[in-house]
Amino acid sequence: MSLILSRRDIDFLLFDWLDVEQLLVAERYAAHDRATIDAVIDLAASLAEEQFAPFNKLSDQHEPKMLEDGRVKMPAETATALRHFCEAGLMAMSQPHDVGGMQLPFVVEKAAFAWFQAANAGTSGYALLTTAAANLLLEHGSPEQIDAYVRPMLAGRFFGTMCLSEPQAGSSLADVRTRAVRQGDGSFRLFGNKMWISGGEHDLAESIVHLVLARVEGAVPGVKGLSLFVVPRDLPGGDRNDVSLAGLNHKMGQRGTVNTLLNFGEGRHQPQGAAGAIGWLVGAEGQGLACMFTMMNEARVAVGTSAATLGYTGYLHALDYARGRPQGRVPGNKDPNSGQVPLTRHADVRRMLLAQKAYAEGALALNLYCARLVDVQRTSDGDVREEAALLLDMLTPIAKSWPSQWCLAANDLAIQVHGGYGYTRDYNVEQFYRDNRLNPIHEGTHGIQGIDLLGRKVAMQEGRALKIFGEKVGATCQLAREAGLGEDAQALDDAFVELEYTSFLLQAEPDAETRLANASIFLEAFGHVTLAWIWLEQVGAAAAKQGAFFDGKRAAARYFFAYELPKVEPMLALLISGDRTTLDLDPDIL
Ligand SMILES: Cc1cc2nc3c(=O)[nH]c(=O)nc-3n(C[C@H](O)[C@H](O)[C@H](O)COP(=O)(O)OP(=O)(O)OC[C@H]3O[C@@H](n4cnc5c(N)ncnc54)[C@H](O)[C@@H]3O)c2cc1C
Repeated sequence: MSLILSRRDIDFLLFDWLDVEQLLVAERYAAHDRATIDAVIDLAASLAEEQFAPFNKLSDQHEPKMLEDGRVKMPAETATALRHFCEAGLMAMSQPHDVGGMQLPFVVEKAAFAWFQAANAGTSGYALLTTAAANLLLEHGSPEQIDAYVRPMLAGRFFGTMCLSEPQAGSSLADVRTRAVRQGDGSFRLFGNKMWISGGEHDLAESIVHLVLARVEGAVPGVKGLSLFVVPRDLPGGDRNDVSLAGLNHKMGQRGTVNTLLNFGEGRHQPQGAAGAIGWLVGAEGQGLACMFTMMNEARVAVGTSAATLGYTGYLHALDYARGRPQGRVPGNKDPNSGQVPLTRHADVRRMLLAQKAYAEGALALNLYCARLVDVQRTSDGDVREEAALLLDMLTPIAKSWPSQWCLAANDLAIQVHGGYGYTRDYNVEQFYRDNRLNPIHEGTHGIQGIDLLGRKVAMQEGRALKIFGEKVGATCQLAREAGLGEDAQALDDAFVELEYTSFLLQAEPDAETRLANASIFLEAFGHVTLAWIWLEQVGAAAAKQGAFFDGKRAAARYFFAYELPKVEPMLALLISGDRTTLDLDPDIL
């Protein structure tokens, strides 16, 4: 049994539930069939098992080191694993043929990539950043930029980064200070400091392509004054650009992804005889954040998937351990001469395992559902396309945050199932927890996702996305009733009605600070309703199917409806009550 992911579950999600084969009738995907999809998933699973998983621990224990000359030393295994990944063409699974891609459905790419995220979260980060940067340039870059950067990125020769954060501008991108000075030849020179940049310096690729948010001199303050620039570490012709590594951040987890503080325009390198990092505008001036959102939205769902896969692999490790570890006897058996039972014989351990299964399989299913919405957009038009885009837009903060919260909780339970051994570095689960702890922080913190959902997403186009979601929930409940799951259908229906009511009530609050004070609670309640829907959907796809796998799906869904969905009601009640405990709290008394 693989301890990375379950191939059986991936097949169930892709084919039994999301009906990926139906996507293949679209012209864009016509070159593929079930066999090619199976082959890609097989390839990903075996490369993840053979090349990524074996050094996951090593890349945690031997984090990247900054050398005196400003270069970064990485473990050799990282380069080897990524070389195998790139040589297999996996950097460009869903991109069009004309830029060297396989033109697979996006959901297939995400399912295949999930194996690498689960096997070695830190190392998979380089590929995630590179494909997302390439996708941004494909959408907003000029044909010259596509030739210069996208093709080498998709071929695995250049890697990408996203450079938004600065020491004083984390959640608040309105405070980005990096300056871009216009040059006579259409290029710009950039000056500023970027903080937390993942993959910012290394020797894993020929060059690094930085996508940088900066402010053209004279631009208006705030996010409207931000523009996006492509800034290669190595300039055409071979000169080193003026991008210097100022230091590395030493992290709690995800240590395989080098995290850097980069100085742009420090003058350490002087391309064409002057200080300033040379960059070129991507998209229109002042549209930087909008362009960057192409990458951020993809990265947010990818972060959610990474969280889901860490929860998933942690669950499989805990299950494997619990099955093999004899400890104690069941209640009522006082005979010390009888043999010890495996941990799985204890109901409390089974509860912890089932919770992990419900969180991790549910989270992965949600993220693959979101990936499929991208395919719907790519293969349809009119209302269908528009509705898929709106639904994805609204679900993105949930797809990012719910797995980051609950699959971290799954990793916590995986440690608990291991008892004392789980707290040691001899086992893998403590690393999964540390790796996963990043996910509620980067790509927009949990709090920022709550504000995005409540402040923007549920309100956009007069609540149209919420309405679309409500119709989907209603349709699922109807099918569930017909399948004899009336009780669960009613519970979900009721929770959604209450959620919708709470959303309307909060929208009616004119004071933004009051409205958004408990946005995180709203996000969490919405997340649980969404996951209950995802579980009812999965049970629908498993209906009338026999065997342990399908029984396991039904048990996880049962757990979610019995133990988790009831948590929604008190959260919504708190929001409806208009409680002002935190709103009126004087921070000086804390
Ligand atoms: C390992 C790692 C990798 C990263 N990789 C990248 C990368 O590649 N590129 C990049 O650009 N950035 C990257 N980041 C930066 C990351 O996106 C930021 O850390 C994140 O946006 C939060 O910013 P901050 O750290 O300054 O925290 P702050 O913004 O100071 O937030 C601190 C706390 O305050 C809360 N808070 C802040 N503002 C508000 C508000 N208005 N309302 C309510 N609550 C608020 C937050 O939710 C959080 O809980 C990375 C970070 C880490 C740790």
